[in-house]
Amino acid sequence: MTKKIYLDYHATTPTDPRVVESMLPYFTERFGNTMSSSHSWGWAAEEAITKARRQIADLLHCKPSEIYFTSGATESNNWVVRGLIDQIRSEEPDAKIHMITGNAEHSSVLNTFKAAQKNWNVEVDFVKVDCNGKVPVEQVKKLIKPYTRLISVTWVQNEIGTVNDIEAIGQLARENKIYFHTDGTQAVGKLPIDLEAMPIDLLACSAHKFYGPKGVGFLYQRSAAPKVRIQPLFYGGGHERGERSGTLNTPGVVGMGMACEILSKEMSIEMPRQKALRDRLLAGLLKLPHARLNGHPVERSAININISFLGKKTESVLAQLSSLGFSSGAACMSGNWSATPVLRAIGVSDEQAQGTIRLSVGRWTTEQDIDQALELLVKAFG
Ligand code: PMP
Repeated sequence: MTKKIYLDYHATTPTDPRVVESMLPYFTERFGNTMSSSHSWGWAAEEAITKARRQIADLLHCKPSEIYFTSGATESNNWVVRGLIDQIRSEEPDAKIHMITGNAEHSSVLNTFKAAQKNWNVEVDFVKVDCNGKVPVEQVKKLIKPYTRLISVTWVQNEIGTVNDIEAIGQLARENKIYFHTDGTQAVGKLPIDLEAMPIDLLACSAHKFYGPKGVGFLYQRSAAPKVRIQPLFYGGGHERGERSGTLNTPGVVGMGMACEILSKEMSIEMPRQKALRDRLLAGLLKLPHARLNGHPVERSAININISFLGKKTESVLAQLSSLGFSSGAACMSGNWSATPVLRAIGVSDEQAQGTIRLSVGRWTTEQDIDQALELLVKAFG
């Protein structure tokens, strides 16, 4: 039987068995609520949460108190935009608000900004990415207005893997006293991150992208110079220092902390290994004369390949590729195939998108996997 090979680590990752093990006691004997401050069950949960906050802060080089646990990056991205609008309106009810983001952001950013524009009376500029999917810094600069309050740009684009110039955009925001948010979902665990040194005020992330569990994530909020002030998205019992109410997902948070600890120890070894595997797969695919890499040729995530096979249709070779896990660059809506909005933003046509796939390697990808996948893909798209 052909071995099944998962090459969709951008979509989600398997939870590392070491992470699962760290979580297990918090479902059973250590099941306490972190808010139960009067007994040892509650203290044990609180202790575990404190440790996880530290593990995350160690990976990102920030203060543990700057980490706020959420249900994932979707919530964290929503919280930034909505929480900031609420904060401004509570202090300056008549203030005009302008925000800037890219046109190739993840839908949890893009759709929140669209809602801000449509429903919450906020002016929004969606900066057009260049043909490699990068947000041009000069374009952002041109769009800044006296009442621009937020710039949000993804660190690593989740479909095409392009890495944005976060340092330069963050610096620009800082010089103009504008909050800078980045969706770090595909960056954490892939790139070295030093929040102490970087001009980032807010960073969103989900644990399941770095071998942690699903349904848990965090929002980093800078606590000094400048201190970020946004309103909560959820009101309730005052968890997370009043900023994010709702009983904490203790096992999830513990697992996310462990996943970060593993990354702190192993990232510098595992990322070059994964990059070498990605490069091997990419080199093999690019031998096909009609293959075109999408996204930035160099400034891209080490795990990502997004490639078009011109004149080919993924749909017609799916049966041949049933042992592979990958994602397609086109979606079918009422019989019509259309490119994903991100591919469209970099100029990929609906026609081309039908022969476009995203492949991503990860912690458990082997050389044999790459060679087997390559053989199948070359046969299918050759
Ligand atoms: N941002 C990016 C860049 C992502 O890749 C994802 C997940 N695909 C999200 C945000 C949303 O993460 P979640 O679904 O875990 O909330």
